[in-house]
Amino acid sequence: MNLVLMGLPGAGKGTQADKIIDKYGIPHISTGDMFRAAMKDETELGLKAKSFMDKGELVPDEVTIGIVRERLSKEDCQNGFLLDGFPRTVPQAEALESMLNDLNKKIDYVINIDVDQDILMERLTGRRICKSCGATYHLVFNAPKVEGVCDRCGGELYQRADDNAETVQNRLDVNIQQSQPLLNFYETKGYLRNIDGQQDIHKVLADIEQLLGGLR
Ligand SMILES: [Zn+2]
Repeated sequence: MNLVLMGLPGAGKGTQADKIIDKYGIPHISTGDMFRAAMKDETELGLKAKSFMDKGELVPDEVTIGIVRERLSKEDCQNGFLLDGFPRTVPQAEALESMLNDLNKKIDYVINIDVDQDILMERLTGRRICKSCGATYHLVFNAPKVEGVCDRCGGELYQRADDNAETVQNRLDVNIQQSQPLLNFYETKGYLRNIDGQQDIHKVLADIEQLLGGLR
């Protein structure tokens, strides 16, 4: 079961990733974890990646791709993997195709957790924090009883700058611009499966399980 997981910020990708790896016993391969492991083990590529990151530069594709290749060659990926955060670009996706080919593997599905932008905005801008006690609320998922007032201590609730509409919209725009060509690429390849991420979390997982039930 070789999977790539995609989804915009707020789509619930992390939650579903946890559930998928739990259920199917495949490793969750996220770019961040992979880089940290390669640097900790001081592999040649890990040290190379570190040298770019230490200078505050982007790690070049060839280094990233090499690290992914090393990771996918490991024993625990024999029965499958869930890639998360890689590939990010079409050239990376093409490199992934060729490395899987070399390893006699192929992608089964690219699962895209699909959520409308206005709902993502609602999810990502809804957090409120109490100025006095630090309690957190969410206007949709965990609303205070009285608007703007902390249930616990009566303190005033505020929105962090990171959560304001403009910042969140920018973050979404960047992500959409980046992911759209990749979604098109995988659509053309026939790997892409869109899962409705606007449903209840359990229903989203049930849809993923139904899709994966057809594998082997
Ligand atoms: Zn409070």
